Amino acid sequence: MTIHDQAREPITVDLARLPTLLTALRLPTIGRLWSQLAERSDREGWPAARYLATLLEHELAERYQRRIQRHLQEAELPAGKSFATFDFAAVPMINMSQITALAAGGSWLNKGANILAFGPSGVGKSHLAAALGHALVENGYRVLFTRTTDMVQRLQTARRDFTLESAVDKLDKFDLLILDDISYVRKDQAETSVLFELISARYERRSLLITANQPFGKWDDIFPDKAMTVAAIDRLVHHAVILEINTESYRRKTAISRASNSSSDAKITTTQLDAKKPNRHVRGD
Ligand code: ADP
Ligand code: MG
Repeated sequence: MTIHDQAREPITVDLARLPTLLTALRLPTIGRLWSQLAERSDREGWPAARYLATLLEHELAERYQRRIQRHLQEAELPAGKSFATFDFAAVPMINMSQITALAAGGSWLNKGANILAFGPSGVGKSHLAAALGHALVENGYRVLFTRTTDMVQRLQTARRDFTLESAVDKLDKFDLLILDDISYVRKDQAETSVLFELISARYERRSLLITANQPFGKWDDIFPDKAMTVAAIDRLVHHAVILEINTESYRRKTAISRASNSSSDAKITTTQLDAKKPNRHVRGD
């Protein structure tokens, strides 16, 4: 019997089984909408094909939204750090249209190009990275945001368990891996060649976004030896957009303006805020 014959065959339809069928076929949106849309379709005399197509379009649209929600969760992006809350006026050296183009994804992600964001603490590197990650997930890409030290730890554990290769392979599912604060990785604290292995594995295939508050010249502290540092930087910069945010700390600026706006806190001065600086490093921001 051909499919055409099957379509002509009279089959008994048990409407009561509809919810079960839709669950079995994993069509929750149709399960929710079919009845009210059926009423509307009857009322307005829709052709059956229009009814069916409308239901399927709804299912597809919601499926896409559900996938994005899943990908937002897996991305582990810091909460509230999106473009909606990012003030581009505070970073005049950052070209907003360039960032908007990067946030659309496309060719740079397809060829595994990287973004390297440099600048002192508090200037918005992590916020910008998270905002880009957020926008990319909403545009259908998969992203993972992680502190570089956490990633290094995760890969070291994998190496100890002889599963480093598969741990690195698993990260391939992410179009973009955001490694926040690479400068906090210290070779004397741990075996950091795993980071080099990650960079090599992704080279020209999968993108990295790395934030750093130290210029390349200070990266010797990150990797086990100079040759590895040079090789890592070489791979990272080969196809890369480099963003340099050399401005005053946004955190400090807003703290100062809060202080000067509030009479009770008016005694907080720039010097006092500077004195608190070392704590920031410990917090890993
Ligand atoms: P960095 O990673 O460079 O140390 P962060 O991205 O953590 O800096 O920024 C420090 C704080 O200031 C965060 O709360 C961040 O949301 C905020 N911030 C920094 N730059 C901006 C900006 N341009 N617009 C809005 N908030 C900003
Ligand atoms: Mg940061």
